[in-house]
Amino acid sequence: GTPAPVTVIGLGPMGRAMGTTLMQAGHPVTVWNRTPSRADDLVSAGATLAPTPAAAIAASGLTIISLTDYQAMYDILAPVIDDERRPAALGGKVLVNLSSDTPEASRRAAAWATEHGASFITGGVMVPAPAIGNRGAYVFYSGPKDAFDTHEPLLRVIGEPQYLGGDPGLAQLFYQAHLDVFLTALSSLLHATALVTAAGVPAADFLPGVLTTLTGIPAMIGDGAQLAQQLEAGEHPGDLSTALMMGATADHIVRTSETFGVDVALPKAVRSHYDRAIAAGHSTKNWTALYEVIKAES
Ligand code: NDP
Repeated sequence: GTPAPVTVIGLGPMGRAMGTTLMQAGHPVTVWNRTPSRADDLVSAGATLAPTPAAAIAASGLTIISLTDYQAMYDILAPVIDDERRPAALGGKVLVNLSSDTPEASRRAAAWATEHGASFITGGVMVPAPAIGNRGAYVFYSGPKDAFDTHEPLLRVIGEPQYLGGDPGLAQLFYQAHLDVFLTALSSLLHATALVTAAGVPAADFLPGVLTTLTGIPAMIGDGAQLAQQLEAGEHPGDLSTALMMGATADHIVRTSETFGVDVALPKAVRSHYDRAIAAGHSTKNWTALYEVIKAES
């Protein structure tokens, strides 16, 4: 059929990329942004700039929201709700919020939107803005399955949709868990680079090679499903990478960092996992025994 109209609220790099990609796929796109000038390029390319958030919502059955956090959504939509002339502004609308926040904030927002008659889908975009619409782009979604299924073909334009379930907190839970791995790995790359450069080695002699350590991790942990089974069972078999051996290395990294005067916060956090696992009697188990002390922290 004819590509459905869609509204995009929030025109940071991500919202602009989504608006552009949806227009390229033939969808009539209406946009709104607090700072209107950020819509200029989209409008030149054929998008309609709505004069108010209420007009933006009214223009399409589906509105994609791409803001810094969920508070920004309330800042924009609360006046729409409060407007006496538009008591049902959100009634029958589908809102897809792809902004970052806590799972709890996502759940509260879903309840709030539902109370105002909208269907609320939460999402987490798993690629940077320039990758939107490209092969390999994917987005986590959670919330009402019927609304998701109805709009899945449109959402597919921005990236492969991965529907996680009805609990609206799930998309941000997965988003954050992935970013937990991503952000920690990025900080460790910078820390390691600081360490070798403090020792007088140019970054260029180190960085290309260290990437093989990142890409080698899957081969080391094997099938994620098998690791999941072992972690859930509390089993940590294997004596090739014991908590004791890996913990000694973690301590060496802290001491080398101290010697060269680079930040020790991250290596100390890592060492503390090993120290506590060893103190809890896991020294001869596989390094995965760290899981026992990490999960106990909560
Ligand atoms: P930006 O920070 O560049 O854009 C944020 C948007 O939120 C802008 O449109 C801004 O309006 C608006 N905004 C913020 N606070 C308010 C407020 N109180 N009232 C009204 N509008 C507000 O973010 P991005 O576009 O980069 O990202 C958007 C979301 O997508 C974020 O949640 C981010 O985590 C997520 N994401 C981004 C990725 C990326 O590569 N950029 C990758 C994956 C996820 P104004 O223009 O007026 O300031």
